[in-house]
Amino acid sequence: MTAEPEVPGTPATAPDDLTAPDDLMEKVVSLCKRRGFIFQSADIYGGFRSTYDYGPLGVNMLRNVKNAWWRSMVQLRDDVVGLDAAILSPPRVWEVSGHLQNFTDPLVDCRKCHSRWRADKLTGPCPNCGADDFTEARPFNLMFKTHAGPVEDEGAVAYLRPETAQGMFVNFANVLQTTRKRPPFGIAQVGKSFRNEITPQNFVFRTREFEQMEMEYFVPPDEGPKWHEYWINERYRWYVDLGMPPEKLRLRPHDADELSHYSSATSDVEFLFPWGWDELEGIANRTDYDLRHHAEASGEHLDYFDQATGERYFPHVIEPAGGVTRTMMAFLLAAYDEDEVGGEARTVLHLHHRLAPYQVAVLPLSKKAELESISREVLGLLQPHVMCDYDVTQSIGRRYRRHDEIGTPWCVTVDFDSLTDRAVTVRDRDTTTQVRVPIDGLVAELRSRTGED
Ligand SMILES: [Zn+2]
Repeated sequence: MTAEPEVPGTPATAPDDLTAPDDLMEKVVSLCKRRGFIFQSADIYGGFRSTYDYGPLGVNMLRNVKNAWWRSMVQLRDDVVGLDAAILSPPRVWEVSGHLQNFTDPLVDCRKCHSRWRADKLTGPCPNCGADDFTEARPFNLMFKTHAGPVEDEGAVAYLRPETAQGMFVNFANVLQTTRKRPPFGIAQVGKSFRNEITPQNFVFRTREFEQMEMEYFVPPDEGPKWHEYWINERYRWYVDLGMPPEKLRLRPHDADELSHYSSATSDVEFLFPWGWDELEGIANRTDYDLRHHAEASGEHLDYFDQATGERYFPHVIEPAGGVTRTMMAFLLAAYDEDEVGGEARTVLHLHHRLAPYQVAVLPLSKKAELESISREVLGLLQPHVMCDYDVTQSIGRRYRRHDEIGTPWCVTVDFDSLTDRAVTVRDRDTTTQVRVPIDGLVAELRSRTGED
């Protein structure tokens, strides 16, 4: 990947990542590009500053990560509803949320080579030129600023949201009135956010444009700590349920000096990345910071009146906030494996079936016309239930390898016997065992293997 570190207007001097990626990282990054998970954005023009495009396989997997989150956080619960708020927002929201004042990194410039650094990450002299002569640190706001409409004056300023959470806070009263939910209840959202990171790094781990999965869970004030604990455990379990090995996960409470300006306590779910433990998701207790500030600034009622007790209060907020792309990357890193099948080396992604880009590959044994009709019949039978690939090129062994490498859990092979016995061979990615299954029983067979409808 192209090293690409700079803040607009500064020279490209800093390396993207001071930690050299180990072998696993290189292999996964290479697989992502080679097989169409992730491409450097604007690749034909040399790539663009830490932005990435998700290819045919990547878009399936990203969608699977988001769907698995939505299923767990919204679909399987009766206390969480969804929202999809705008990305463009007026300065007032970010002034009141504290992001205009507080969402900054301290920056210094090297006076000799004019490279720019984060003061809080810099230890010792300039890593670029070795000089030890820096400007004084000044705050650099991480929000992307733009103008709405044709006139670029102060009145037209808008920001790309740096988090989806404010959408939930400014819609709190709307959701309360339209759904008749009462605390404890949550509002969930999945969507893009933007942060003008000074040092984006580690492939899609930290990028300026990224996608979040956030849920604001509103609770009576005295129940904050209890629900914080609850959501830390729930979120940890979500990764394990999707096949993440527990030894690659840990929970880490933030020290007081790491806390965001709105948070009274935060714990991270961390993954053991090739460069060390790093954040997958933060579960924060945001207290009543946001609702109280927005209520004061807007003059609207953003508190909750409990008719049972006659009490009026600002709910406290527990926020599990995860990143979609870094979650996808962690699952890819954890799933990557090299083993041997029949004396031949293979690369395999042991992805959970719910996350794999394709659940099933339908493979006619031969390109001969007589197999096409029955193969397409099998494909049509499966497509309403799972994401399928249809692959007719090269030998069956090569096709199995290709699908092992992208994590497809099951290959369904149609052969010449299928024409007479109306059965196909189902091959399992992890065990490579093959069983003969009647075409009419194929959907039921997959259901029993996934444990899903
Ligand atoms: Zn320098």
